[in-house]
Amino acid sequence: MKIIFLDIDGVLNCRKTPNPRRFPYIVDKSLLARFQELLRKTGASVVLTSTWRYDPVGIFAAKYYEVPFIDITPDLPEQPRSKEILEWLRVHPEVDRYVVLDDEDDQLDDLPLFQPSPRTGLTDEMASAVAEYLEGKTDKDMRCTRLVRVVQNIYAVLTGHRG
Ligand SMILES: [Mg+2]
Repeated sequence: MKIIFLDIDGVLNCRKTPNPRRFPYIVDKSLLARFQELLRKTGASVVLTSTWRYDPVGIFAAKYYEVPFIDITPDLPEQPRSKEILEWLRVHPEVDRYVVLDDEDDQLDDLPLFQPSPRTGLTDEMASAVAEYLEGKTDKDMRCTRLVRVVQNIYAVLTGHRG
């Protein structure tokens, strides 16, 4: 079983996503189409890691936009996202290949992280790389440079944002 741990903000939406009514939850149709194509190609299933998952309105929005997911990671207060993912994997030993798609790096360093820029969301190049990884053709992930991450982590601390 192949799993994509999916963050939504900065992956399926980006700074250019039109949002005239300023909805708190928004999905970019073209990014979603790219993601759905990736799922078709790889046969992977989706587990939501996004903060959307613990707001009923967020879950409603994800379903409304037809973001396909089979489960959500547990909410472990005060724990980084990586712990929530590892906990989900612990109780699902049937998973043989997985990736983490997240524009931020919440202690995800030891996991196969594919990290889009929130300026663009999921690109074609990254979708292809995720497919190759899930198909076992490569063990190479794609993440930001260390410097970008240092800046992100400082920002996260200053804003208390967990991603
Ligand atoms: Mg995000």
